[in-house]
Amino acid sequence: MLKRLLKELEEYRIKPKKHLSQHFLIDKKVLTWIIEALNPHINDIVLEIGAGTGILTEEVAKRVRKVIAVEIDSKLVKLLREKFKQNSNIEIVEADILKIKIPPCDKIVSNVPYHISSQIIEKIVKEQKSSGWNKAVLTLQLEFARRLYAKPGTKEYSRITILTQYYTIVKPYRVIPPRAFYPSPEVKSQIVIMKPKNTPPKVEDEDKFFHMVKILFTQKRKKALKVIRDKLGIRDHTTLAKIAEIVGNLRVYQLSLEQLIKVYNYCKEIINQQYSP
Ligand code: SAH
Repeated sequence: MLKRLLKELEEYRIKPKKHLSQHFLIDKKVLTWIIEALNPHINDIVLEIGAGTGILTEEVAKRVRKVIAVEIDSKLVKLLREKFKQNSNIEIVEADILKIKIPPCDKIVSNVPYHISSQIIEKIVKEQKSSGWNKAVLTLQLEFARRLYAKPGTKEYSRITILTQYYTIVKPYRVIPPRAFYPSPEVKSQIVIMKPKNTPPKVEDEDKFFHMVKILFTQKRKKALKVIRDKLGIRDHTTLAKIAEIVGNLRVYQLSLEQLIKVYNYCKEIINQQYSP
């Protein structure tokens, strides 16, 4: 796979760009892992984020109805268009994924450009409803992947954990060594599988809830009650007493999603007032 890749890159005079996190897959086994995790169905429409030279695109397209392959780099787009000009079920879209809407699709697959991992996750989970995707298979840097399926009270538990677990169920899958990519990244990667929750939790205003989470997690090591009092400016004694019942003596990073939702529900009037996007 490496030989073919190097030949293509040379032919199109492409030098892997660091600032676009270009690390191309060169390991057959990893390719089969990703396909296995995706479990493609012949009727599926699959969105691929960051198609690169189309290594994954090609394998997925053989097994599904349609692949929508988004790529930002115009040189790679040119390569993809020529490579797949005979493949009527591959649609190549030249775009910054962060600037377009997640199109209607069944599944998402991506070897995620790691410099924008957080933004991509945030976008796909928030747009799950409008897009309708029901499975996402994402290859991420291991450290980052761990944050998505982290449990309360661990050091990986953070704002992006809450955001992801609010909307989806995340399962860790295979760990991938750096040498599976060219050029090799510095660290290991991991495939994760995300599925939207059947019944996601409900809060009155999601933007405001996530705004509260963001504020609280800027001081995640501190006692939750104190941070809620000081950072959200909750002064009212009855409200504070109620919140103390919910959070006890816990620190911010020890709060479960359910506890965070309860806190929001108790002080949403105040949070809603403070926050105008
Ligand atoms: N899927 C390919 C390439 C992975 S590297 C493979 O596995 O070999 C990540 C890819 O994402 C690169 O091709 C890079 O150009 C692309 N990319 C980076 N930022 C992007 C963005 N904002 N929108 C769309 N694609 C992006």
